[in-house]
Amino acid sequence: MSTSLLFQALNIRDYQYASARYSNGFTIWNIISKNFRCNNCSSPNVSVRMLKERVISAGNICRLNLLLNVAIHRIYCFDCKKDSIENISFLPTPKARITKSLERTKVELCSMSETEKAVRLLSPSAENLSAPKQ
Ligand SMILES: [Zn+2]
Repeated sequence: MSTSLLFQALNIRDYQYASARYSNGFTIWNIISKNFRCNNCSSPNVSVRMLKERVISAGNICRLNLLLNVAIHRIYCFDCKKDSIENISFLPTPKARITKSLERTKVELCSMSETEKAVRLLSPSAENLSAPKQ
């Protein structure tokens, strides 16, 4: 369910939900990469070693004030013999602390009037609704 929510709500495809914890009003999901590839040649023939963890804000999803805890790995490629740091695909920049979808939402809200923001936040959008299949 939560891995599906990662994809549906946050457009995060290459990570999966591992566990959750709650702290100071935040829901913190630990997510892990589904597979590792070389940043240089895209080879799957790599070894990985965890470097550190990074906490990334995903905003409010389903009334959860959601943070994502992601392990960052060092990747060594056996094919091209290069060492690199894992590239997190859902960040707008390599060192960002917010997701691409949260950054996009913030930019869209900055360009709207207060009334437009209220309408957007309080009503379901047509693109999020789908007719039941029969
Ligand atoms: Zn490589």
